[in-house]
Amino acid sequence: MPVSEKLPPGARFVLERLTSAGFEAYAVGGCVRDTLLRRPPHDWDVATSAPTEATEALFERTVPTGERFGTVTVLTPFGGVEVTTFRKDGAYRDARRPETVEFTGSLREDLQRRDFTVNAMAMGLDGAIIDPFGGREDLQNGIIRCVGDPERRFSEDALRMLRAVRFQAQLGFELEEATLFALRRLAPLAEKLSAERVRAELCRTLASPRPELIGSMIEYGLLARFISGFQEKIPWRRLVPVPEELREPVFALMCRNYGLTPDAGALLRALRAPTKVVREAQGAQALSFSPENLPELLCVNPEDHVLIAAGAAGNYEDAHAAIKRRQYVKPSELSVTGSDLRAAGLHGPQISATLRDLAIRVTRGEIENTREALMELFPNGDGGPSGGF
Ligand code: ATP
Ligand code: MG
Repeated sequence: MPVSEKLPPGARFVLERLTSAGFEAYAVGGCVRDTLLRRPPHDWDVATSAPTEATEALFERTVPTGERFGTVTVLTPFGGVEVTTFRKDGAYRDARRPETVEFTGSLREDLQRRDFTVNAMAMGLDGAIIDPFGGREDLQNGIIRCVGDPERRFSEDALRMLRAVRFQAQLGFELEEATLFALRRLAPLAEKLSAERVRAELCRTLASPRPELIGSMIEYGLLARFISGFQEKIPWRRLVPVPEELREPVFALMCRNYGLTPDAGALLRALRAPTKVVREAQGAQALSFSPENLPELLCVNPEDHVLIAAGAAGNYEDAHAAIKRRQYVKPSELSVTGSDLRAAGLHGPQISATLRDLAIRVTRGEIENTREALMELFPNGDGGPSGGF
């Protein structure tokens, strides 16, 4: 099937209307890359010679998503499509994205401002690929290469260095030599990026099939603002079996365990991670995890905390299996309750501590989880369980 038939109806609708009105219009960037790789693109971006006002006039329903940067979202009957006027970037300040942009009538100039050759291709309605920088060849060879001089491109926008590693991880590609050389030299510029933008790239790398490339980000110094030091032998592959939603706290805990940060929660706070993720990392950090203690840890701690601690120690699969097989008994699942213990003469915090101890002993197989067996430990109702507490 020709690649143009891969154009989804929304993008096709937008390209058809813009080109019939006499403008140039192409699908560009990630969607072309992913189509050529036969991966499903997660969004379709269109670049056009039409100024934003012309785009707004041509379609019934539009949303001005970033007019200053030439972007309008067209609401088609098939969903929203981002349409951006051909542009070249204006002056960069401080290794961050440009304050202003300049519009241009040239597709080539629009492609030239894009970060990597594999992201700098366009596809027209007829399916023809416009590829002035050799993106297709790099795609075939699995190479991430800057468009133009890598030193200049990374100095313009330091986020591109994190994106380079992120695409390497997502696509299974390697960095081209000059791109890697420039990245190693200019990594300190990443210091100026906002924590939110750094975290977004970090999380996408963690969620990729090669989360261990986080180790390269650290080695190059791209995370130096958040993490100090570098150790060669950190087993980042431990992140692979961990599901995506737990990888960020596991990563933070590994940083703590290997001495890259004193505190996993503080690291995640600096990265502006959501409170829930910070709390999970803190909860996991408070456990002293060892594989032998797994069932006991599971009976008295939230499962997520144990999974994170286990993930950081390389035992994620064991913890997951133990949860699935329910190889532990929670205090709430005991055949005695707090009221039973109160009736037996225990008070206040003693009660919850005793329930925890009982749950651990039941989990270890030392006592049966029956009312008779458990109440036998409190024969006198004198406030103290017998049997070795
Ligand atoms: P994803 O699959 O993650 O969406 P993508 O390639 O579509 O990947 P986006 O961040 O959505 O990435 O950006 C769309 C396109 O805009 C890119 O393909 C690239 O051409 C261009 N682009 C994005 N960020 C930059 C940047 N910092 N510098 C230069 N070009 C960029
Ligand atoms: Mg995209």
